[in-house]
Amino acid sequence: MRTSNSDQHLNQEISLRTGDTEFAERVRLNQQKLTAALKPHYDFIVCGSGSSGSVVARRLAENPDVSVLLIEAGGSDDVPSVTQADHWFLNLGSERDWNFRAQPNPRLNGRSIPMNPAST
Ligand SMILES: Cc1cc2nc3c(=O)[nH]c(=O)nc-3n(C[C@H](O)[C@H](O)[C@H](O)COP(=O)(O)OP(=O)(O)OC[C@H]3O[C@@H](n4cnc5c(N)ncnc54)[C@H](O)[C@@H]3O)c2cc1C
Repeated sequence: MRTSNSDQHLNQEISLRTGDTEFAERVRLNQQKLTAALKPHYDFIVCGSGSSGSVVARRLAENPDVSVLLIEAGGSDDVPSVTQADHWFLNLGSERDWNFRAQPNPRLNGRSIPMNPAST
């Protein structure tokens, strides 16, 4: 497979930094490289890179004969409210929260309970 100059540059950057760069930085560079090389066709498209989508995409990608695209609607998770577990509650109602609510429940005095699936 042919690679462009920018691909080669990114690959070089990744391999140069592998020894001394944090895992998150290597992930960022890899995602930058893959995003720059989107294909017009994939064998599998997994929607949502949360807990389950990430695992499904990873398992599918173990087969070198298939191409897999994992898409994610949310933004970066590289923020203290995600990386520091004791700050989890700061995500509630933030831009990382889909802000879903349950239907009003007559067994809860008609209250509508917030449901806070994350968007990262
Ligand atoms: C604040 C909080 C703390 C939690 N703490 C824990 C814990 O300590 N331990 C534990 O076991 N569980 C915890 N959970 C629960 C756990 O996060 C969920 O059970 C789990 O993430 C659900 O996995 P999932 O793959 O179904 O969905 P998610 O992990 O929510 O993944 C769904 C992904 O799909 C993306 N998405 C949605 N719509 C689209 C679209 N149209 N296009 C592209 N992408 C899309 C979303 O942005 C999201 O990234 C916590 C949940 C919250 C909200």
